[in-house]
Amino acid sequence: MKTPQLLNYARDQWVPGEASSLSEIASAIDGAPVATTGSGGLDFDAMLRHAREVGGPALRRMTFHERARMIKGLGLAILAQKEGLYELNYLTGATRKDGWIDIEGGAGTMLSFSSKGRRELPDAHVLLDGQVEPLSKSGSFIGQHIYTPLQGAAVHINAFNFPVWGMLEKLAPTLLAGMPAIVKPASATAYLCEAAVRVMVESGLLPEGALQLIVGGVGDLFDHLGGQDVVSFTGSASTALKLRSHPVVQRESVKFVAEQDSLNASLLGPDAAPGTPEFDLFVKEVVNEMTVKAGQKCTAIRRAMAPAEYLDAVEAAIRDRLAATKVGDPRDKESRMGALVSLSQREDVRAQIGKLTASGARIVAGNPDATPGVSGGAFMEPILLRTDDPWGTSAVHDVEAFGPVSTVMPYKNMADAIALANRGMGSLALSFFTYSPEAAREFIQGAAAYHGRMLVLNRDNAAESTGHGSPLPVLVHGGPGRAGGSEEMGGVRGVKHYMQRTAIQSTPAMIAAISEQYVPGGPKHFLEAHPFRKRMSELHIGDTLKTPSRTVTIADIEHFAEFTGDKFYAHMDEEAAKASPIFEGRVAHGYLILSFAAGLFVDPDPGPVLANTGLENLRFLTPLYPGDSMRVELTVRSKSLKSEDTGVVRWAVEIFNQKDELVATYDLLTENVP
Ligand code: NDP
Repeated sequence: MKTPQLLNYARDQWVPGEASSLSEIASAIDGAPVATTGSGGLDFDAMLRHAREVGGPALRRMTFHERARMIKGLGLAILAQKEGLYELNYLTGATRKDGWIDIEGGAGTMLSFSSKGRRELPDAHVLLDGQVEPLSKSGSFIGQHIYTPLQGAAVHINAFNFPVWGMLEKLAPTLLAGMPAIVKPASATAYLCEAAVRVMVESGLLPEGALQLIVGGVGDLFDHLGGQDVVSFTGSASTALKLRSHPVVQRESVKFVAEQDSLNASLLGPDAAPGTPEFDLFVKEVVNEMTVKAGQKCTAIRRAMAPAEYLDAVEAAIRDRLAATKVGDPRDKESRMGALVSLSQREDVRAQIGKLTASGARIVAGNPDATPGVSGGAFMEPILLRTDDPWGTSAVHDVEAFGPVSTVMPYKNMADAIALANRGMGSLALSFFTYSPEAAREFIQGAAAYHGRMLVLNRDNAAESTGHGSPLPVLVHGGPGRAGGSEEMGGVRGVKHYMQRTAIQSTPAMIAAISEQYVPGGPKHFLEAHPFRKRMSELHIGDTLKTPSRTVTIADIEHFAEFTGDKFYAHMDEEAAKASPIFEGRVAHGYLILSFAAGLFVDPDPGPVLANTGLENLRFLTPLYPGDSMRVELTVRSKSLKSEDTGVVRWAVEIFNQKDELVATYDLLTENVP
């Protein structure tokens, strides 16, 4: 049977690479050919222009919420086709459990970003950054930072180890931001990525030009990059250096996001002696990180550190657990660890182990030259190394063997533990196993600057923990120095990598128009009919209800104090209130003001406003004294759809006294009929 050829997806067409550019991809299980792949003949400049001129404008016409719903649809499409993807996953050497992280973890990342987008981003085209900055006395001149999508293409260059997740963790924030992407998977596992792209393209959800795929080299693509493009790279430090030093990247200030290999550490706390739950959890996690995906994980534990007096026990416990790990065909349910991605990757891992032993580490479990599993496959035994002189064995902190390899080493005291953890010169993930809050505080405060994500694990959170190695869509993934110096994901933080922040200076009316939201001082449209009688679609930004005013009396304050039990001196003791540096006498409770405000603006009958779901940004600005009066202006600040049949309206609530001074402001959130 002829080996299938992978196709590129360029300018909304599936295109084969020229025959002269093709290379063969072998199965990790037995070396049999899986596919040929190549990108020769593609017009990379035209692909970039297609992304910028067709994909970008189409995505930018959509609101954040429309893009969020599209991303959810793409994630669901992947889930619906997951069994076909699992079949290809085995050929990469990965077990079903490994594939779950890649395929369902990837789709889950899309769903998570979709949900974050609908909850934390507006149903608009512009994202506000922070509050209005007052820049003038009368308020006619203000500043507001905004984010808008970059107008170039996002070039995603991915590693071989997670061909689906690695693509989707970059694609979700990119599309949510409103940028089109050109994805280049690593060749070794490009067939799985190509299949996932096919699912997304065939879903019909993507606008034209939003997604393109290169299954081969990137040719002269870098020569055509510009200052609105972003390169987001995952892979080796050497390729990252080469690409970020490209003269066009330098000249055009192309944004460059890099995730590189790093020497992640895990530490057994000084309190976690053999026999404690934390000791057992540590051993389990080190073995897990060595064997999941055959250790080909950017976050895998390469350096396992323990108090010197526990090191023998740690080594013995890890060895015992590794001995029970069955290495073999990933399709076989008995196999706990599959193969490395390729024979050349196995050669690379063996060479790196050679550097570790040459530096002084010794192998205490596994034989790097053993060939378990299926004949012709890229299988190897997990290898545990040990050094008793971690400061004299520099390779253990510098050389990453990207496979089932880890080194145990001792630390003397907390200062030594912190220094050794930081000796990796920057990592993606670190875990610390302790039940001591003091140890956790000292360690994390001493080491956090060198690590992107830190997990403190113990008996209380182990059952629900997602583990050392799992990057999560809502938390940042990335790290300083050796780890690449960048961040990905982290919820909305990750979306902002694909947007430009701009400081806008103008009048409140202009800022409101630009941002598609009401801002304080912006234009209001006073309504005759009560806004609670209107469906969300009938409400407009700036629509305002102006209530009558009511006087707040001393009897109201005393009644409220009796009724609620809040008898704070400022409300009940005239002398004490006068003596305070803040008040001139007794004042109304803040909560009384809020309650009276609701009494003034609420329309009681059932209608399109279904529920009050919360208050945000509450500030009390001017005290309200007995005899003062108060009135409310309730203004539609922004609107968003939560689901088909519920919407969320954010109302700006401004409470004024009889002198039109602002007493309090807050945002009220209501759930509405769309
Ligand atoms: P590489 O850096 O060789 O490749 C990473 C990606 O870059 C692949 O898509 C590769 O494509 C592409 N690439 C390579 N050269 C160029 C170039 N000149 N221009 C454009 N793209 C290029 O890393 P590998 O995937 O081969 O893995 C090697 C090492 O990287 C591992 O041993 C490990 O240390 C590290 N790694 C780190 C990961 C992380 O998440 N931090 C994940 C995986 C690996 P192609 O495959 O077609 O060459």
